[in-house]
Amino acid sequence: MQKEIDIKIKDTLALDLQKGVPILLKDGFQETDNLEEGSILKLKNPAGKFLGKGYVGKQNKGIGWLLTKNENEIIDTAFFQKKIAAAIKQRDDFYNSSETTAFRVFNGEGDGIGGLIIDYFDGFYVISWYSEGIYSFKEMILEALEASVSYKGIYEKKRFDTKGQYLEDDDFVKGQRGEFPLIVKENGLNFAIYLNDGAMVGVFLDQRDVRKKIRDVYSKGKTVLNTFSYTGAFSVFAAAGGATKTTSVDLAKRSLGKTTEQFEVNGIDVEKQDIIVMDVFDYFKYAKRKELSFDVVILDPPSFARSKKYTFSSAKDYTNLLKDSIAITEKSGIIVASTNNATFGMKKFKSFVEKAFKESNRKYIIEEEFSLPSDFKTSPLFKEGNYLKVLFIRAK
Ligand code: SAH
Repeated sequence: MQKEIDIKIKDTLALDLQKGVPILLKDGFQETDNLEEGSILKLKNPAGKFLGKGYVGKQNKGIGWLLTKNENEIIDTAFFQKKIAAAIKQRDDFYNSSETTAFRVFNGEGDGIGGLIIDYFDGFYVISWYSEGIYSFKEMILEALEASVSYKGIYEKKRFDTKGQYLEDDDFVKGQRGEFPLIVKENGLNFAIYLNDGAMVGVFLDQRDVRKKIRDVYSKGKTVLNTFSYTGAFSVFAAAGGATKTTSVDLAKRSLGKTTEQFEVNGIDVEKQDIIVMDVFDYFKYAKRKELSFDVVILDPPSFARSKKYTFSSAKDYTNLLKDSIAITEKSGIIVASTNNATFGMKKFKSFVEKAFKESNRKYIIEEEFSLPSDFKTSPLFKEGNYLKVLFIRAK
């Protein structure tokens, strides 16, 4: 059994924990420098009353996560197994689907353990460790997962500072090694996935419902511009939905080969699509100069991006990004605006839209709103965990 440390926390954090807030914010503690990653804390209010047990795992503003409010519950393999089994049960529909074979099995604090993410890719599991602290429970968590599922192989992603130690690693943990690309399905289409090649595996699973909507409702007979396109997942769905042409723009050189591959594994003629390696902000200028316009423009930028010429922060610059897009969107066209920035909510995101259309002298209506899909379970008391915001905006 892990050693447990009694620790008194400030009243503010005590109140939060009582409500069920899962994160242990740094400023709820008198002193955090000597807290060791992976330690189990018995959290008590200033009067000494027990509030919960958590673990130390530093991530941004948090120094760790609440695990249980039960003083008698021991943090051991059985504890992790209980949590993982409950999460798996809630994903029954995904496990039983033949149309979709890639989904999130365990979503951190939403499933009761902050800092731990487990994704499923057609028989393979990928565990993402968000701190050294959660990584210190690796043996228990692996044992718990293996007791809950059968699998082909397990991979891992260390999303904390490993100080360069693991650079040569292919992230394989146990079972059988995969052959990559691994072809997984999403709503009947294919994705080529690489579990052995860095943090990003080829697709962001949180946009599944958005991709489906683009394919099923918004693509037939349309020209589609997909900016910040990465491996072109939105373009694949648009093309499969009958888009006359898709244009994918990303500045990463690898995006050309990766996007070509995603079209090919779906039997879509790549020759009919444009895949452009270019800075999106240069592309907007180019498109304006050439008087190009599109029926559908998809915007899915990272929260922060720094290229040679531009810095983009979604909290500061989204309005301008929208204005650039509005300028090349056909009358009655659709802008799919997405952000994964957790520092602002839907209300503020909508205010960017309002401002951008006002300043462009165009009217609009919002046709669809999306947040995270059901497998990305969130905690109602940790709103930063519910980061995804997507709007389908009809530009008049
Ligand atoms: N929309 C994608 C995910 C985007 S990930 C999807 O659905 O899968 C963010 C991408 O933005 C990365 O591929 C990165 O290379 C690209 N990127 C960042 N800054 C950029 C810029 N200024 N111009 C073009 N692409 C950029």
